[in-house]
Amino acid sequence: SESDKSVLEVEDVSVTFGSIKALQNVNLKVSEGEIVGLIGPNGAGKSTLVDTVSGFLPSHEGTVRLSGENINKLAPNQRATAGLRRTFQQDRVPPTLSVGDYIEFVAQGASTRDEIREALEFFGCPSPRTRIRNVDVGTRRIIEVTAHLLAKPKLLVLDEPAAGLSHEEHIAFGQRLQRVPERFGTAILIIEHDLDLVRTVCQRVTVLDFGELLAEGGVAEVLDNPEVAKAYMGE
Ligand code: ADP
Ligand code: MG
Repeated sequence: SESDKSVLEVEDVSVTFGSIKALQNVNLKVSEGEIVGLIGPNGAGKSTLVDTVSGFLPSHEGTVRLSGENINKLAPNQRATAGLRRTFQQDRVPPTLSVGDYIEFVAQGASTRDEIREALEFFGCPSPRTRIRNVDVGTRRIIEVTAHLLAKPKLLVLDEPAAGLSHEEHIAFGQRLQRVPERFGTAILIIEHDLDLVRTVCQRVTVLDFGELLAEGGVAEVLDNPEVAKAYMGE
């Protein structure tokens, strides 16, 4: 509704790479307490949108707002400080660090020891002393999400966080993710290929296709839309 407090607003964002229109007049909103899915076939522009929102791709048309403030001119680290954090499609967690040192590095003292311990337990992460090189890639992705949540951002943007997880881990991760907004006070924008997970975890979903907004709205309504199914079939 109109009274929902917006965390993220993307307004008429367009991005071109040479002759490729990677995004064309895309609009997107994430409100406080929400988990919004961003889906679409390969090459649809999902990562480009995340790069734009997080400031890694500064040259675009349109406006990105965080809690109502235009953040177009902020660098990625400034956006992180302002409360907008992201993870990457590729694993970037430094293998030489311990889990605890990595969390300290990412969260910069935003959380207490107890909060860190509780969050690690909540997500089923290994203990702070564990070396990251000794955990599998799926667990590393979950440690990454946990560390960013412990920085207490307003919005966390996740680019395919469940890649590398087994089916069982995937379901467990989804169940925990669902509880993140109430538990951590962080809204989530998530790129996710598994539409079952999207259906379970997200309240709303935005579908991109060839850089354009194909559909958006309540998750059931959008995922049952034949146009959306067609875009996926054409992949
Ligand atoms: P998705 O994440 O949905 O798979 P991307 O955002 O990665 O899609 O890509 C959208 C389009 O933009 C694709 O056609 C892709 O080839 C192109 N693209 C993405 N990044 C670049 C880049 N740095 N230079 C040129 N083209 C790019
Ligand atoms: Mg991508």
